[in-house]
Order: sequence, then C-alpha cells, then structure tokens
Amino acid sequence: MKITNIRLGRISVPLRVPFKTAVRSVSSVEDVIVEIHTDTGAVGYGEAPPTGAVTGDTAGAIIGAVRDHIAPTLLGREVDDFENLMLALQGCILKNTSAKAAVDMALWDLYGQLYHIPVYKMLGGSRSQIVTDITISVNDPEEMARDARNAVDRGYDCLKCKVGKDAPLDLRRLQAIRAEVGQGIKLRIDANQGWKPKEAVRILGQMEDAGLDIEFVEQPVAQHDLTGLKYVTDNVSIPVMADESVQGPADALTIMQMRAADLVNIKLMKAGGLYNALKIASAAEVYGVECMLGCMLEAKVSVNAAIHLACARQVITKIDLDGPVLCTEDPILGGAVFHEKDITVSDEPGLGIKGVEKITYLD
Ligand SMILES: [Mg+2]
Repeated sequence: MKITNIRLGRISVPLRVPFKTAVRSVSSVEDVIVEIHTDTGAVGYGEAPPTGAVTGDTAGAIIGAVRDHIAPTLLGREVDDFENLMLALQGCILKNTSAKAAVDMALWDLYGQLYHIPVYKMLGGSRSQIVTDITISVNDPEEMARDARNAVDRGYDCLKCKVGKDAPLDLRRLQAIRAEVGQGIKLRIDANQGWKPKEAVRILGQMEDAGLDIEFVEQPVAQHDLTGLKYVTDNVSIPVMADESVQGPADALTIMQMRAADLVNIKLMKAGGLYNALKIASAAEVYGVECMLGCMLEAKVSVNAAIHLACARQVITKIDLDGPVLCTEDPILGGAVFHEKDITVSDEPGLGIKGVEKITYLD
C-alpha cells in the first residue's frame, strides 16, 4: 500500500450554541480535512481544528505544514513502513502538532485497513463503548444553569463547566448549576488558565465548603506555571488535571515527575497524534496517573480517532469527546456511533471513516 496523493479540504459545521471558554468564543467548527490516497484505492482520513488559542495552529499553518513539509516527506512511501513513517512525520517540521495529528490518524487508518483490524484493537482493545461528558460554556450563572438543564434533559450525567472568566462569578456559576441539576450529576470544571494560583486555591476551597461536589478541576493556572499548578494541587482536595500545560509527552513526564497535577488531559491535537498520545498514556500508567481523553472543537473524523485510543487503554478513565454532539449536523460518514453521551467505536478496519460530506477541496 503506497501513498500516492495527499488531499486537503475544509469543512464548516455550525454549533448548537456558541462555545465559550476563558480564552475564546466560536460559533462553528471550521476544520481542515486530510485525505491520504494509496495505490490500492484505500483512503485514510484525518482532521485538524485550527485552535490558535491553545496549540498556536491556524488553518493556514495546518495547510502549509501538510503541503510544504509533510506531503513531500510521505509521498511514494509504503504504509507498511509504519514506525519509520511516524518518525518521519514527527521529524519533518517543528511543532505544528495539529497538522501532524491529522496526518498521523490518516496513517493509522490506512495501517489498520492494510491488516484488516480496527485501530482500537491494534492498540489494546480494552472496550468498545465509552461515555462522554458535555461542555457547558462560560456565561452568566443563569444561562449556564439553563444550558446544564438542557444537557441533563438530553441524557448527559456528567457536565464539564467552563469557568475562569471573571473569577468572582465562578462560585455563583457552580452554585446555580448544582442547584438546577441536583445531586447525582457529575460536575467537572475547566478554568482554562483563568486563575492565579492563590486565587484558584481560594475559589476551589469555597466550592468545597459550599458542598458543590466537584469531580476535578482542569488547568486552573497559566500553561507554563508548573510551580503554580503544583501549588494548587498541593493545597486543594479537589483533584487537579493538567490540560494546556501538557502539550506533548515531554510536558506530561515533567508534570508527573513533579506531581504538579493529579490527572492529565490527552488531546491528539496537542500531542501530534496517536503515536505521541500513546507515549503519554504509557507514562501515566507508570506513574499511576489517570487520564482524560479530550478534544478541541472537532467534528467526527478526529474525535473518532480519539475514541479508538480511549477504547484501547484502561488508563484513560475520563472522556471529554463532545465535539460532534455540540454540532447541529454530522457531515462525517462512518466511524463511531453517538447516541448523545453513549459512544460505540467502529469495528471496521482502520478508523472506519467512509467519507466526508460538504467538503471543500483545496486542490
Ligand atoms: Mg481543558
């Protein structure tokens, strides 16, 4: 199976409601699609969301990295030469983890098709079904409580509530949500770097004292402030998860060695694909650190790849793969099946994606 062509396209999928965090607000998924074509007719699919605020990768950067660096490196090579392809992909350009992730998943898709095995089975095959949380965007307390009610009415029993914007409001936000949904619904919060370390300790302490029963808090402080992250971890009893602080396997190891966080959020777009995400999962197993598998605002091609990883490894105990259910439509054919929070992985060879509708090709 030889790589003969790499095509790029764009998709645009409107969101049900605008997605708002402490660092950005967007109203649609605007992603780059990668198709890797081969001489057997098999096609591997990949996707990358431009998430400049988190990864630094814009759409233009993703397209440029694939066109100018990755495609010339991979064209004409055999998919069966997999480990060497992975090393060549990671080594052909610095950073650009979103572009690498899109191409990485397309290559795994082809490798699975070549040997007639679903990728999650290739990686361990721990389970075939997972349950995702759903994001509640940061807004006024009343609006967040309304969104939380809508999510619970759709069947979600685990809400990831965005906070960290206008810090004095954060306690009231969580109080309003807890009062609306009652006990029995899991609440996890994500401050997206929005607090200072001492402020985080104070707010989280208030949330504990108020009996809000927070499952864990994601990224309370600035990405590079690992000392501050550790300070929060050491001074609150709510478990702390590192997200933006973990841009790849090296960051994950540093945080685990420092015990700067209790949990790690793995995202393919930060890690540069499944190949590096697996390294984080393996390190986490060694350090006894449970992981969440998360996503950016992504449609189902890349979320589907993350689902394969989540279904493969037991160390991934928390799932935040709500990209597709935040959208008004699903232009992706094949792949995992979503029934709101319940996700069943595809047993087709590779990643199981059959095509992408409404794609605008760039060539
Ligand atoms: Mg996060």
